[in-house]
Amino acid sequence: MYCIDMKRFKKRLLNFILVVCFSLMAAITCQFFAKVPTDKSIHVSNFRYGKEPSVIRCNRGDRLHLTFSSEDTGHSFFLEEFDMDVKVSPASDVVSVFKTSDPTSNPVITKEVSFTAKHQGILNYLVSRSNFRCHVWCGPMHAFEQGKLVIFPNTLLFFSLGCLIGILFLWMQSVFRNSVSNLADSENSRMIDLLEKSGFLRRIIVSRWPQIILTILALVMMYMVIMISIFGTKVSGRNLGVLMMWAVWLFLLVAILTPLFGRSWCTICPLPFFGDWFQRRSLFSPEKGQTKGYSNKFYGLFLKWPDKLKNSWLRLIVFLILFTFSTTLVAKPWVSGLAILMLFLIPTLMSLIWELRAFCRYVCPVSVFVAPFSELSTITLKNKSQSVCDKCKPHFCQKGSPGGWACPYGINVGEMKDSTECGLCLECLRSCSYKNVSLFRRPFGSESIVRSLSDAWITIAIFTMAIVYSILYLGVWPVVRDYVNIMDKQNWDLFGIYVVVVWFLVLVIVPATLYLLAYIGQRLSKVKTTVREIFFSYTGVLLPLGLMLWIAFVIPMLFVNITFIAQSASDPFGWGWDFFGTSNIPWHQFLPQYVPWVQAFLILIGLYISLRNIRKKWLSYQMNSNQLFRISIPIGLFLTSVVTFMLFFFTN
Ligand code: SF4
Ligand code: SF4
Ligand code: SF4
Repeated sequence: MYCIDMKRFKKRLLNFILVVCFSLMAAITCQFFAKVPTDKSIHVSNFRYGKEPSVIRCNRGDRLHLTFSSEDTGHSFFLEEFDMDVKVSPASDVVSVFKTSDPTSNPVITKEVSFTAKHQGILNYLVSRSNFRCHVWCGPMHAFEQGKLVIFPNTLLFFSLGCLIGILFLWMQSVFRNSVSNLADSENSRMIDLLEKSGFLRRIIVSRWPQIILTILALVMMYMVIMISIFGTKVSGRNLGVLMMWAVWLFLLVAILTPLFGRSWCTICPLPFFGDWFQRRSLFSPEKGQTKGYSNKFYGLFLKWPDKLKNSWLRLIVFLILFTFSTTLVAKPWVSGLAILMLFLIPTLMSLIWELRAFCRYVCPVSVFVAPFSELSTITLKNKSQSVCDKCKPHFCQKGSPGGWACPYGINVGEMKDSTECGLCLECLRSCSYKNVSLFRRPFGSESIVRSLSDAWITIAIFTMAIVYSILYLGVWPVVRDYVNIMDKQNWDLFGIYVVVVWFLVLVIVPATLYLLAYIGQRLSKVKTTVREIFFSYTGVLLPLGLMLWIAFVIPMLFVNITFIAQSASDPFGWGWDFFGTSNIPWHQFLPQYVPWVQAFLILIGLYISLRNIRKKWLSYQMNSNQLFRISIPIGLFLTSVVTFMLFFFTN
């Protein structure tokens, strides 16, 4: 084991050094193309919700002379990396220039703002992209009013492209090395039973108390989020409910909980709390009795869910509807509050009619995200011994036992193929009398399997939507946001076009493209596998990159809002309170100069793992290198194109 680990570590280190060499070469080379600084005069026109130009490109050391105007209401040009917040009024071409580092100091009143596109010290070489935003509330979509300043030479872009070439080089090398034994070793040796040695940890997990306490805490938080969203300030950027939900919770779910602990949010999710309570009439151990084939006593009609709806289509549709109205959800706090309230009411009502957690299994929009991405997580639940499960007749995990409730997701752990559908409710750890269930640690991204058409569409949808969301909310093009502005601009016609385009993209264009690529892959490689299976495998490898795209999306959502969260926590309803003395602290973004670096790094990691998973998937089919290369080429090119586009998007 030690030998394998050392070998693996050395190999990874060498790979890492190689990729860094490619990156540094590109980053250093681009410095030789720096141009002689000049003076540039730019007029920035401000309007709801954008700036024209929305992209300012210049060379390092250029002297920029900016003048401003507003087409409608008051706006600002907030450029934290250059310590300026320029307040613009529609009535005058004179602006007030505040310092972001000290907003209380007297502003400079001027017609023209001049500064040199140059950072201090090493940052001069590292920071090539900065976002300018608006810091005067100007309407419901104010938070998305932004543009970017790009300084050439763009070290980050070249560094990232060098890294991309390095990753592709390593991938090609690994394809032609084509070793099955290494993979088998690595898979088996790296699953570690987390509860095997620690009886204490097992007792904590099996005990219902910690789970119930955390669920009730989450319930209280959700209750506060609903109340504050509905009754708090209408300004979404200052509404604690909206910030807690769409900045903090989303970040935790996407960037921490799901990648590390899979569906751990479901372990403490309060949405099915009342439904479970109604069906079980207990928060703790099961009541004795039998209900419709289950070995626990359940209440309610407990009807079977219709067979035709036992797939992921319904939840995909629910997710797409929420996605379609996401701008309204974020920009209108009361809409956000009502939507969350509905997410409590619907599962509770469904539990009166259908058995177990029908909502979680077939309707929940959150599961559209957490279920597929849980395949990548570093923690998973599975059986310890397959042979024990094979001999087990009572299937306590699925049917329940005096120790634990029947699996709310209808799973027999002995037949569980992947972690997608397991809601990590932990009941099977309590119900399995053979103690044959445990939590395992595994390498990140080791599973990326798609088994059905509806799951394939879900995977494609969440992958595509990470890109669409990024363009919509992090992009600098105000015209794009006009397509979703049904709030103050009432652009229903544009919104209709947006809905048709996005749904068509998610449900038809991207799946059709992947299917076509799968067909090409089959023809190129001449393998005796169906196009459908290749399509499933292509879809599965989208997961690692898809997750990283999502993390790259949520990071700025949180980092931009950290001080707003502190302000709103002091005054959650906007009633002039100041609980923690933070209600009037000045707005600062968290490490804005490093965000593009983190985003580029994440999507490159995503690409690396996705490419690795293509190879891993097809190696088990005993292909030769040539076939492996040919079957991987279409999806490899697809992923590389997406990553190149997103690298330009995030860094340039
Ligand atoms: S599936 Fe949805 S409702 Fe159910 S526990 Fe998970 S997040 Fe909550
Ligand atoms: S996990 Fe336990 S209860 Fe479920 S099939 Fe295996 S041995 Fe039986
Ligand atoms: S398999 Fe176990 S942990 Fe997963 S949902 Fe079913 S009972 Fe809960």
